Formats: sequence, structure tokens, C-alpha cells
Amino acid sequence: MSLLERTISWLEEKNPNQDEFLQSAKEVCEYIVPIVNANEDYKAHNVLQRILTHDQILEFTVTWENDKGYPEVNRAWRVQHSNALGPYKGGTRFHPQLNISTLKFLAFEQSFKNALTQLTLGSGKGGSDFNPKGRSENEIRRFCNAYMQAIYKHIGPNTDVPAGDINVGDKELGYMFGEYLRLAKSYDGALSGKPIALGGSCLRAQATGFGVIYFVQEMLKSQDKQIDGHSVLISGAGNVALHAALKALQLGAKVLSLSNSRGVLIAEEGLTQQHLDWLLEEGKKETNSLESLAKKDGLLYKKNESPWSLKADIGIPCATQNEINGDTAKKIVKNLSFGVVEGANMPCTQEASDTLLKSKLHYAPGKAANAGGVIVSGFEMQQNAMMRYETEAELDKKLQQKMSDIHQACEDESRAQGNDKANYVQGANIVGFRRLADAIVAQGY
Ligand code: NDP
Repeated sequence: MSLLERTISWLEEKNPNQDEFLQSAKEVCEYIVPIVNANEDYKAHNVLQRILTHDQILEFTVTWENDKGYPEVNRAWRVQHSNALGPYKGGTRFHPQLNISTLKFLAFEQSFKNALTQLTLGSGKGGSDFNPKGRSENEIRRFCNAYMQAIYKHIGPNTDVPAGDINVGDKELGYMFGEYLRLAKSYDGALSGKPIALGGSCLRAQATGFGVIYFVQEMLKSQDKQIDGHSVLISGAGNVALHAALKALQLGAKVLSLSNSRGVLIAEEGLTQQHLDWLLEEGKKETNSLESLAKKDGLLYKKNESPWSLKADIGIPCATQNEINGDTAKKIVKNLSFGVVEGANMPCTQEASDTLLKSKLHYAPGKAANAGGVIVSGFEMQQNAMMRYETEAELDKKLQQKMSDIHQACEDESRAQGNDKANYVQGANIVGFRRLADAIVAQGY
């Protein structure tokens, strides 16, 4: 049995029925096992199994009071994957379908993403099966407070620094930080993505979406192209999608779509600044902001459809994991002319990812392209440790540089592996792995 085969069967034995985690771990193994095979130190330190295993998982119950005065119970977890490169670091997701497999895959992917940033960031991910949709503001606040009561002893600026993710933005992080201050009595950077009034970074909300577009710009630049004039399909209508759309528009691209879990918004002439401003402000109050915008401004909203049957130059999935399957990827290959850049974490199934890699399209994985969020979270941690603020202009310049560095590192590694056309998946996995592996070797055991 080869090392790859042994590792895959060990993964399957240790993580039964955890499909999302196994999908992401197996993909990474395909690229990193050859690197391990060629390095005696990595083999001697069992780096492979150590990277494929989380340090610990906290599992807890959040009991909170709803508006009727009744105590509701939710399950919650924090996966602390690795602190080899810095404090555990990664977002918090509130979603009714959240489970341990999803969180393990997200924390594992975060290890590689955070390593790629070259910042002092370990990896983690957490959240709860709490569904904030349809809940009152008071219920969301009480849930956030109860969540923090359960977790505050396990986090801190040098131990674990949670941020936001699906359904957790600066408002929820503000509620959590308020409760942290009351409990821990320490004003420090134990959370990132906080409101600016509580020490948050003024670019954090925009950072993931902006960073994705900076990555797209770098990919185009390396083909002697510019983003100006290109058409873009975006899925999702949350934090990442809307800020990616905003930056794409600012740089002269035409944004043809957004989507949510209920359908797709199509703007044949391209979304305007006014459309996006409305979605970012007023849209938050609507149950289906995309459908409301379509009705208000004469755009098209198609229920139960996705953007992926439309024609465009670039596709940017920014909704959730596995939204693009093998069949959809085949359509995408026919419909897009330049490439697919992942704003979400693992939006492609393994079959979809293989299809895109084999196609004419350029294809960048989330762990490289959506690193902008954690990069600005890293800057927020530095800012909090130094008790200072940085301006939006300073942060934006640093973010652009980091996205450009990640792009360059992935492209260089891909070239070193003998690819003519950049294989960003291979590049990102190997660059991230080497940094993690070297830190593990340096720790000894
Ligand atoms: P948000 O909660 O702000 O938005 C999520 C969006 O995706 C919503 O429009 C939601 O629609 C849509 N969506 C959710 N599930 C589905 C589905 N099954 N099919 C179609 N659409 C769906 O989340 P974010 O924008 O923060 O996160 C989006 C992705 O980006 C996630 O994969 C996240 O892990 C990743 N990411 C986020 C970062 C951040 O800084 N926030 C950093 C790096 C990665 P609806 O409202 O109908 O549910």
C-alpha cells in the first residue's frame, strides 16, 4: 500500500460518516503526500497525521431564553485545529444544518489558508445549529450572550480568536464581545470582525469580498488581462458576495448575478452601485432581499435557480460548501470564458473541482482566494495588541499586497511542480502545507 492509500484508509477509519471533512482532507492529501514522501524530516515527525488531526474539539450546549420566556437548547462546537503557527483562528457559523463534519473541514481548510497568509495565525472554526432566521433582535442577542458564556474561558488573544462566518457578522460579534467584557473583564482582541466601535478593523466587513477580487485581478494580470470590462457571475448575497460585487463593480467589471438559498437575481445590464448599496443597507430588513430588489427595480428573480447556467467571463461562488456539483461544473466550463474563483469555502464537490481543473478555465480555491477576511482579522489582532487603529486606506493597501503575495506564491509553486497552466489548488495546498509542516518539525515531539 502506498503512503497515500494508507493515509486515506486511516482518515476513513478515524472520521467515519464525516463526508465534508473527508472530502477536503483527501483532496489535500493528493497534493501533499508526494511532498512528505520526498522529505525525511516530515516522515520522521509524522507530519501528515499531525496535520490531518485537530488538536481538540469543544462541544457544548447553549441554553437561552426566547421571547416567550421559554429556555431553548442548541448544540455548539469549537474545533481548535492547530496552534502551530499562532493562536487558533477562524470564524463562527450559525446554521441549522451545522455539524461536526462541516466544522472539521472548515477548520482544516483554515489551517492552509492561514498558513498562506504568512501571519501568526493558527486555525479553528466554531458555531452552532442555532438558526437566526425569523428570530427577533432580542433573541439573537440573548443567544450570542449565552454562546459567549459557554465559550469565553476557552478563547483569548493568545489562545483562540473566533470571528464571523455564515449568519455571524459584526452585530453578533458585538453582542458576543460585550458579554466577553462582562465575563473576562479584559479588553483585548479575543474576537475579530468586531464593530469598529469595539476595536474592530474598518476594513474587516469588506475584506473577504475585496480580497477575492484582488485575487481575480492577479490571475487576470498574469494572462496580460485586466478586470475592467469582464462580466462576472456571483452566487450568494451575504457578506462575501456583496463585497465581491462592490469591488468588481468599482474596478469596471459587470456583475450579472447574485443568489440566495431560494433563487437567483439576474441583472442583464449589470448591477449598479445603487443596487448594491440598497442590498447592504435596506436589504438586511427584508426576508428575501434579492426578490424585493428585483420587484423594486425591475430586475429578474428566478426561484429555485442558481447563476450557473448563465454565460459570463468569470464565476465567483460565494454562498456555501458543495453548491457546484459535477454536472453544474460541466455547464460552467461551457458558459464561462476565463475562470472560477472561490469566495466560499469548498463550494465545489470533488467531481466539480476535478472537472474545472481539467478544463480550459483558470480555477482558484477558496483557501487562497478568500484569505482576505482572515488577513484583515490578523491585522485587527495586531491593532488590538498595540491598542491602535489603522485607516481603511492603510489596510486596503496591505490587503492588496497580501493577496498578490498569495497569488504569486501559489503560481510559483505550481510552476515548480511542472505545470504550464497554473494549478492554484496544487500551489495553495503545497505552500500552506510546507509552512505548517516546518512549524511542526521545529516543535519536535
Ligand atoms: P453570509 O451569511 O453573509 O451569506 C451567506 C449567503 O449564502 C446568503 O446569501 C445565503 O442565502 C447563501 N446561501 C447559504 N446557503 C445556501 C445554499 N445552500 N444555496 C444557495 N445559497 C446559500 O455568509 P458569508 O458571506 O460570510 O459566507 C459565505 C461563504 O464564504 C461561506 O462559505 C463562508 O465560510 C465563506 N467565507 C466567509 C468569510 C467571511 O469573512 N465572512 C471568510 C472566508 C470565507 P440565504 O440568506 O437564503 O440563506
